[in-house]
Amino acid sequence: MNIKIANRAKAIRPSPTLSVTAKAKEMKAKGIDVINLGAGEPDFNTPDYIKEAGKKAIDDNFTRYTVTPGIIELREAICAKLLKDNGLEYAPNQILVSPGAKAAIINVLMTICDPRDEVFIPSPYWVSYTSQVEMVDAFPIILPTNESTHFKITAEQLEEAILSHSTPKALILNSPDNPTGCVYSIEELRAIGEVCLKHNIAIISDEIYEKIVYDGMEHVSIASLSPEINNITILINGVSKAYAMTGWRLGYAAGNEEVIRRAGRIQEHTTSNVCSITQKAALAALTDDDGSVEMMRTEFEKRRNWLVDELNKIPNVSCFKPQGAFYAMPNISYYLMNNKLGIKNSIMLCSYLLENYHIALVPGLAFGVDNYVRFSYATSMENIQKGVNRLREGLLSLTH
Ligand code: PMP
Repeated sequence: MNIKIANRAKAIRPSPTLSVTAKAKEMKAKGIDVINLGAGEPDFNTPDYIKEAGKKAIDDNFTRYTVTPGIIELREAICAKLLKDNGLEYAPNQILVSPGAKAAIINVLMTICDPRDEVFIPSPYWVSYTSQVEMVDAFPIILPTNESTHFKITAEQLEEAILSHSTPKALILNSPDNPTGCVYSIEELRAIGEVCLKHNIAIISDEIYEKIVYDGMEHVSIASLSPEINNITILINGVSKAYAMTGWRLGYAAGNEEVIRRAGRIQEHTTSNVCSITQKAALAALTDDDGSVEMMRTEFEKRRNWLVDELNKIPNVSCFKPQGAFYAMPNISYYLMNNKLGIKNSIMLCSYLLENYHIALVPGLAFGVDNYVRFSYATSMENIQKGVNRLREGLLSLTH
C-alpha cells in the first residue's frame, strides 16, 4: 500500500532557481566549466562584523530557545530601522522574526487566507508566491505585465481583477522585484494602495530587495503612504539579500498587531524561533554599518550597467533596464519563434544553453512568462562577461 499524497503537495513545483543551481553544481563537479547565472543570492561573503556577532553568540552560549517572535533587542532594532529608513512606526509586538522572508510570507498567508480566497500576484512572479498561496488552499490570480508596462501592474488593472473575482483577499507586491528588477514609484504605489483600501484587499509587500536599487532611486514602502494603507499592509523584509546572509535564515513580517500575534502562534507550532545565533548576527547587521551594504549595491549597479547594454547588443534580444535587485530579464522570444532545432519554449532553450554553451539561466516559464530568461548578475564581472558571450553564441547558433 502506498501513502496517498495530498493534492496540495502535488501542486507544488520545485524552486527553479535552486534546481538550476543544483544542475550547474553537478556539471561543475564533473569538471565542466559551467557558469551559473541562476543564483538568487549575493555572491559576496557575509560582512565580518556580522560573522563576529554570530561567533560571539556561540561563545556566550546564546544557544537556547528564544521567544518565538524573536529576541526583543532584535525586534526593537527592526522597528528602529523601519523608522529610520522608511518613516514607519511599529512597536515590537508588530514584528514577527521568521526563518527567512519566505517563512514570514507563509506565516502571514496562513493567518489571513481561508481556503478558496483569491490572492493577486503580478507576473512575472517569484514562484514561491504561487506555491505558497496554493499551500494554504487559496487561489493565485495572476496579473500579467510585460516590458511595455515596465513589468508593473497598474491600479486600474488591479481594480478590474478585483471586481471580476468573487473572493479577492490579498495582493502580493514585490518592489524591487524578482525576477524583473522593476521598482514601483511612489505614485504607482499610492494608486495601488488606494484600490486595495477601497476594496479591503490586504497587501503583502515583499521589500526584501529594498537596499538594492539603482540610478539614485529611493525605495518607498507602500506601508508608509498613509495610516489607512499601513493598516492593511503586512511588510516583509529580511537580512538575506542586503547583508549577504541567505544561509543564516532570517526574515520578518511587520504590521497589524493581531495578524502578527496569530502568525507568531503558527510559527510557535512549526519552526519556533529563528536560530538564536542568527538573531544575534542579524542584530549586528541592522544596528552597525561597515559600508558593506553600499559597497555591494554599487558593485551590482556597475554590473547591471554593463550587462544590460551588452544584452541589448545581441541581435534580436531586448532587455528592460532593471532598477533594482540583481536580475535581468532579456526577451528572447525571437529565438523561440525562429530556430531550426525545434526549441519551443524557454525551458527547452535553457536546457540547450546549459548542455551546449554551459551557462545556467532560469527559464522565463519558471516565472510564468515564456518569452524571457532570467540572468542573475550576482556573480563576478568575469562570469557575467563570459556568460553574455556564451549566451550570444548560443542564441546565434539557433538561427545559423
Ligand atoms: N522574496 C523574494 C522576492 C525573493 O527573491 C526571495 C529570495 N529568493 C525571498 C523573498 C526569500 O528570502 P529569504 O532568504 O529571506 O527567505
